[in-house]
Amino acid sequence: MDELQKTASTASQEPTPPAVEAEQHDSACGQEEACEPVVLTGTVVSPGAALGHAQMFAEGDLGIPHFSIEKTQTRSEFTRLRAAVHTVDKEFEELLADLRQEEDVPPEAIAFLELHRQLLNDESVITETQDIIREKLINAEWALSLKLEETRRSFEEIEDDYLADRIEDIAQVIERVQRVLSGRRRPADTVSRMMSESSVILVAEDFSPADILILKRRRDLSITGLIIEKGATTSHSSILARSLEIPTLVHVNGACEHIKTDDVLLMDADKGIVTVNPVQENLPLISKRMSKSSTSRLRQRRLRSAHCVTADGCAVSLMANLALPEDAKEAMTNGADGVGLFRSEFLFMNRPDFPSEDEQFETYAGVVKTMKGKIVTIRTMDLGGDKLPSREAMESIGIDPDKPINNPALGNRAIRFCLKHTDLFLTQLKAILRAGATGRVRLMVPMLAWVSEADIVQSYVRRAQEELKDQGVPYAENIQIGGMVEVPSAALCLKQFLKRLDFVSVGTNDLIQYLLAVDREDPDVSYLYDPLHPAVLSTLYNCINTAHRAGKEISVCGEVAADPVFAFLLLGMGLRHFSMESARILSIKEFMLASSAKEAAGLMRRIHRASTIQDIRKHILEYFADHEELADGFAVSQVPCASPWQNVKGAES
Ligand code: PEP
Ligand code: MG
Repeated sequence: MDELQKTASTASQEPTPPAVEAEQHDSACGQEEACEPVVLTGTVVSPGAALGHAQMFAEGDLGIPHFSIEKTQTRSEFTRLRAAVHTVDKEFEELLADLRQEEDVPPEAIAFLELHRQLLNDESVITETQDIIREKLINAEWALSLKLEETRRSFEEIEDDYLADRIEDIAQVIERVQRVLSGRRRPADTVSRMMSESSVILVAEDFSPADILILKRRRDLSITGLIIEKGATTSHSSILARSLEIPTLVHVNGACEHIKTDDVLLMDADKGIVTVNPVQENLPLISKRMSKSSTSRLRQRRLRSAHCVTADGCAVSLMANLALPEDAKEAMTNGADGVGLFRSEFLFMNRPDFPSEDEQFETYAGVVKTMKGKIVTIRTMDLGGDKLPSREAMESIGIDPDKPINNPALGNRAIRFCLKHTDLFLTQLKAILRAGATGRVRLMVPMLAWVSEADIVQSYVRRAQEELKDQGVPYAENIQIGGMVEVPSAALCLKQFLKRLDFVSVGTNDLIQYLLAVDREDPDVSYLYDPLHPAVLSTLYNCINTAHRAGKEISVCGEVAADPVFAFLLLGMGLRHFSMESARILSIKEFMLASSAKEAAGLMRRIHRASTIQDIRKHILEYFADHEELADGFAVSQVPCASPWQNVKGAES
């Protein structure tokens, strides 16, 4: 026990290079003093290098300047205020114009922006803020904060929940104006000349999946890096962040304390290091790295239409995981063999209602069209846990959004949620079946734990088909139904499940969490979230063998499928179907082309005989030390998640 605790405490800290420790400082420098570099370390979610200005994302970290003014300065504060409102109004105008031209933009997104624009142009807010500036003789940013406080107080008396919640819209608009007011860049220095004027690295204490979805859709931001103080690599936020394809670090201790808006940040996300206000000497190194990663991207792009066949002739299919329908284009650009996982639940978030059957049909059919005849696997909504619909949407189906839930990951999630809200489920099934009439669609059910759940799903699919038939609407008559292996009971009873399902996909993100009893969202226990745990490896091995014996397709769509080391192990277990973030497909393809499935199987046999996790790591490290050319291809640094290269050494199984 003591041994484990000891290992855990060393393991939970990312190793800090000695040179880095020597550079660490207690606090970030003030605006005027010469800035000393501060080095912070974190865990890699997405590798790469980035150089940019910091922008704090959280409300409280805006760093709003508070200062008093002379009476004679009131006019210039009024002018600043009006100019900032004008700038934000222009931003809204451009954003709205862009959105109106795009396909697939939910009408709510436009309505939401229009509401914000209306609030912004409310003349009374501007004149009342000017009154505060005049009376209190304070700067415009500060006066806006006071105005917001005052408005918040008056909203507290409103009984209608919907109206009361509009205070958050007002707060967001005010924040945006404050950001423009206080967000002046530093005078151009050597560092800023080396980068594009718009390079922004977002820094936040935490991001919810909903936040990242908004970032994914925001085209007006040119974000080159993401730094998150909390977080875990396999959380849904991190998975979504990975799809932004920018260097991303989580678990960066002290990020919000040491970094402030406009600081220059140099991110070496390959090594998990952020330097705040770097010294000049570090810059050539990073620009070299930035050009190196763009060279390997160019090299990999040439593999787009190459078939993925290992060096010893095994064909491997590399499919894409999608979060949003627009990700399908990127899947095609990266040469995906199809969609192995479309996380449909994200269509149900960030909106006050649930999407109708027609809206869902349009979305799914749009993805099918983009994928040009390739398979599209649509996962029925995996709502619950950390992926929640809006308060309004929850209330509309009788869920109290304020009701505390002790173990959300073990609660009413995924298929359990669907079987509680069968109207929503039927609506989605009908939309998927209709999309199935337009191309090659498969349906996949998340979080199966009971064989009976698979039977019930079949009966709902039949019911949805009958309803569509009665309505005379075209639908897929023989849709393939698959299930996700994410719960240990499904892995253990896989044979029974396979009698009812056409294919299965292993969701290792959840399977590992449930097998090892480690919350994938909790950074405090992330050192225990180890995909190399012998229980994980043997469960995967058994599932792959069981599916092959039953003659059914099995794939892995969790994050480990995109980790070259782990993908090699899966290859050695006999897996031939992988699904991952589109951005990872080409580098995994490059890796597979150089790999030998026979050697991977040999490595797996050695691992199988190993009795401790240290032995397992030893075998892996020995193999890749002997095959430097292979390790070179993914340069250790590119490994995105808990891999033997990055992961802690030791935790005894
Ligand atoms: C998984 O659990 O591995 C998976 C792919 O599903 P999600 O990450 O969306 O829970
Ligand atoms: Mg899952």
